[in-house]
Amino acid sequence: MNYVAGVDRRQNIAIIGAGLAGLACATQLAAQGHHITLYDKARGPGGRMSTRRFATPCGDAVADHGAQYFTARDADFQSEVANWAAHNVVARWPDIADDVWIGTPSMNAIIRHLAAPFDVQWNCRAEALVRHADGWTISGLPDCTVYDTVILAIPSEQAITFLAQHDFDMARTAMRARFQPCWTVLLAFEERLATDQSILRDHGPIGWAAREADKPGRSGINGAMDCWVIQASASWSATHLEEDAETVAADLQAALAEALGIALPPPIAHSTHRWRYAMSSGLGEAALWNPELGLGVCGDWMLGPRIECAWLSGRALANQIIENSALAAA
Ligand SMILES: Cc1cc2nc3c(=O)[nH]c(=O)nc-3n(C[C@H](O)[C@H](O)[C@H](O)COP(=O)(O)OP(=O)(O)OC[C@H]3O[C@@H](n4cnc5c(N)ncnc54)[C@H](O)[C@@H]3O)c2cc1C
Repeated sequence: MNYVAGVDRRQNIAIIGAGLAGLACATQLAAQGHHITLYDKARGPGGRMSTRRFATPCGDAVADHGAQYFTARDADFQSEVANWAAHNVVARWPDIADDVWIGTPSMNAIIRHLAAPFDVQWNCRAEALVRHADGWTISGLPDCTVYDTVILAIPSEQAITFLAQHDFDMARTAMRARFQPCWTVLLAFEERLATDQSILRDHGPIGWAAREADKPGRSGINGAMDCWVIQASASWSATHLEEDAETVAADLQAALAEALGIALPPPIAHSTHRWRYAMSSGLGEAALWNPELGLGVCGDWMLGPRIECAWLSGRALANQIIENSALAAA
């Protein structure tokens, strides 16, 4: 730890949202000696980099149903990704491009890796922030701990309700962010489909489709089954947002058959997910921080709809907090 006794003030910090932005922030703050507690409403690690396991008659199938791959352009993020590669939680995906990476053996391996040093409280949905003279409590959680600082690392649409009561400027900024939805369907077939194509882009309703087994680091993960992820384009997803999941699954399955130019056998199982807040527009600011209140906000929606942006935003907020606590102690 780099805590400097008598100079910095060690804070008790709660982070709501243990996706990549929340964990990047947590990692940097913990390295400075701050005490971090993360809460996430999901059952396990992933956020929008999650991996879904679903039952089939041939055993469980596994597929990434959020982010599919990422690039690293910023020098600090590149060295973070090199560190992930050294821990075997990412690999390059040259079939897409030379500078493209993917989590191995699944996308959520990155989140698992980052979450490992922390005691993340999964299945904990924060509902509101309550301000007291000596700090914050968070309603909806099983404990009543008072925190010096609270960080919201959740999509803007969800952050607005927390912010509106405490910092209207931050809430107004969050209102400017725009998210696009994405319908995602996972299909498991008993055997490999009769096609050599493994990746499709921009074909009718399909924005992206890929065969899981042909992604790096996944051979054998689904046994003899052939598992495909289909992500609808943003415009198709928006038009069909309130459609029922079974209709969407049938439509996207038909679109896959047409795009591959083959008749598909009936899938042995499928799983459908409607991402209401999938890809964000980005506001051009790395993070929001109110030092008087001890309230911060980070997430991909600050910078853009990419994994790299989420990491940069979380890190930038941590650095602002660290700088601020050093100034306060000086
Ligand atoms: C379908 C899809 C495809 C994508 N494709 C790509 C891609 O190919 N390349 C790329 O770079 N990026 C892609 N992205 C974007 C990428 O996944 C995100 O930029 C990144 O994962 C965002 O991380 P985050 O930490 O900001 O948010 P999130 O991952 O959304 O994390 C927020 C966390 O907060 C939790 N949470 C929310 N509300 C509460 C609450 N009230 N209480 C407690 N916890 C809460 C959630 O459970 C979640 O775990 C894609 C996203 C989607 C959905």
